[in-house]
Amino acid sequence: MKKCLWCGGPILKEHPLKYKFCSPECKKQHQNKKLREDDAFHEHRRNWQRERRQKDLLALPEEHRVQCLDCGKWYVQLCTHVIQVHGYESAREYKEHHDLETSKGVVPKWYTEEKGETAIENGTYKNLEKGAHRRFKKGDRSIGRYKRSHVTIEKFKKRMWPNKKVSE
Ligand SMILES: [Zn+2]
Ligand SMILES: [Zn+2]
Repeated sequence: MKKCLWCGGPILKEHPLKYKFCSPECKKQHQNKKLREDDAFHEHRRNWQRERRQKDLLALPEEHRVQCLDCGKWYVQLCTHVIQVHGYESAREYKEHHDLETSKGVVPKWYTEEKGETAIENGTYKNLEKGAHRRFKKGDRSIGRYKRSHVTIEKFKKRMWPNKKVSE
């Protein structure tokens, strides 16, 4: 006689052979357990990925990573993290909360260089962090070119903040 997969009790004859459980209740219990196991598996995998990411970041030179003062984890783009995870309104709020110098970016040096120091200095840099930089395709070097060309940076500023008066 077939036995119930959940409780091990006998599956009564009147059930068709394909039944694996003695009752709908047993089937439900079994499915719930499976769902919990799937959740646990995915949670475990997420944790594992997070740990691996931390290890990868720790292998980088220190100027390429920033430690979050709220959770102690390492990030490349701390601003995005503190806004999304810790609920800060802006990178400025995070910095003020932790008494950090607001004029300096809470991002690695190479990152700020790539995204434009001007944006950080004039305070619009939190807009960059909130995704404005995604407008630029990979390989678009116009952001970095400003150091060489004054004209280019003025063009860049106008494109980024068309309503903002550009100071000379
Ligand atoms: Zn059963
Ligand atoms: Zn954090």
